Amino acid sequence: MPQGAELADFADIVKRNEPLAPYTYLKLGGPAEWLLQPRSREELSAVVKRCFDLRLPLRILGSGCNILVRDEGVRGAVLRLHEPAFRQIAVEGKRLRAGTGAAVSALISAAARHGLAGLETLVGIPGTVGGALRCNAGDRAGDISQFVHQVEVFDSAGQAQVRERDELHFGYHSSNLDDPVILAAEFRLESDSPDAIVKRMRRAWIQRKASQPLGYQPACRVFRNPRALSAAALIEQAGLARTRVGGAEVSERDSNYVVIHPEATARDVLRLIDLMRSRVQERFGVELEMELTIW
Ligand SMILES: Cc1cc2nc3c(=O)[nH]c(=O)nc-3n(C[C@H](O)[C@H](O)[C@H](O)COP(=O)(O)OP(=O)(O)OC[C@H]3O[C@@H](n4cnc5c(N)ncnc54)[C@H](O)[C@@H]3O)c2cc1C
Repeated sequence: MPQGAELADFADIVKRNEPLAPYTYLKLGGPAEWLLQPRSREELSAVVKRCFDLRLPLRILGSGCNILVRDEGVRGAVLRLHEPAFRQIAVEGKRLRAGTGAAVSALISAAARHGLAGLETLVGIPGTVGGALRCNAGDRAGDISQFVHQVEVFDSAGQAQVRERDELHFGYHSSNLDDPVILAAEFRLESDSPDAIVKRMRRAWIQRKASQPLGYQPACRVFRNPRALSAAALIEQAGLARTRVGGAEVSERDSNYVVIHPEATARDVLRLIDLMRSRVQERFGVELEMELTIW
């Protein structure tokens, strides 16, 4: 049997050679060998176990806001936790529990409705709770890690495990959450008046929009800021502002963003990223680290 053919058992939830571009923010790249959308924890666990037994690469796709899929696509299984079982949000006192398929915007709204403060600084960050946890989404005003109390994951054998706060390490746009599946998380928040929360939310929204490139074309942030330096400033000083490769262009407004024109391919973006990285290395001896995940 060809490797992976056993996934055909999950006929109700599997698509073979499914294009991934429509599921990502950048709308680029090729297909997944297998795309699965489990409907329950049991089904998810069975899929993870099967991939583990078959040694089939397994990836989780959130909203695809921080992923660039290569034009040739990805081998193995890609899972989306988009069914209701993975998107539930429950509030109990100052505790908020969310499935990682829920949108960050839904998490913020639920917290605000219950007069729970903290998460509002994340307003305007697109994506799911799972992606936000793995990438420790946020900015200087705060990040999601500050409020995480506990995270439930599936390990590579498909077994549920709980990671407590003291086992979790979050850095700048990074975390040690490297289990194959982040399933759910519990957040501990503080009470505040809904009016005050909404006011802070508006302020955070304006600040976030002001810091992102303008325009109708999608654009992605590429590199982490090196310690005490700005990736955008290094790229600009390396003379790369507005440099274009095919349909991918360094943003005029913030050189750490690549703007995607309609004719762009994933290859164009990757070639431009290589150019940005090598030019900064040559000029300043600084090795830029990727923030964007490449599949
Ligand atoms: C316009 C725009 C603005 C942005 N602004 C910000 C910002 O201000 N601050 C910021 O931090 N980020 C920002 N981002 C980046 C992005 O929104 C965040 O990284 C977001 O958290 C990604 O969530 P996602 O669901 O799209 O994850 P994806 O892009 O789908 O996935 C990202 C990574 O997380 C993994 N992953 C996702 N879900 C799970 C899961 N359940 N279990 C295990 N692994 C999982 C994926 O495998 C992948 O490795 C921005 C992006 C865009 C497009």
